[in-house]
Amino acid sequence: MPNQRRQRKIQSPPIMDGFKPYGVRMKNLEKVILLFEEYEAIRLIDHEDLNQEEAAAKMDVSRPTFTRIYKKARKTVAKALVEGKAMLIEGGTYISENHWVRCNKCSKMTTTPTPVKNCPHCQSSQIKDIHQPK
Ligand SMILES: [Zn+2]
Repeated sequence: MPNQRRQRKIQSPPIMDGFKPYGVRMKNLEKVILLFEEYEAIRLIDHEDLNQEEAAAKMDVSRPTFTRIYKKARKTVAKALVEGKAMLIEGGTYISENHWVRCNKCSKMTTTPTPVKNCPHCQSSQIKDIHQPK
């Protein structure tokens, strides 16, 4: 299958769903999408200070693929920053060994190897599955 993309390994999701410019209502904003694997690429390079070789290995992709993901990620962040757009972090082609759950009450994200029924931060049962390992 020529067009089948290899899934990119992601350790954990961002702690928020996205960003928006200060003082502008969401409905008045144009949006850009940062894919989960693009977020992960920025996290590994710019936050964890890995080099591209190491980051590619962490995400289980080739070096050229990583470079492409990272370049697009930077482009999207720059677009949001410079053009004042909201940035949603969602979607993509990825796998994770952990469950990702967001609490609808306290909004905190939890990354856990086993499923949970309640938010570990506030004990609320109003939680939303963001990702389940396959
Ligand atoms: Zn909570």
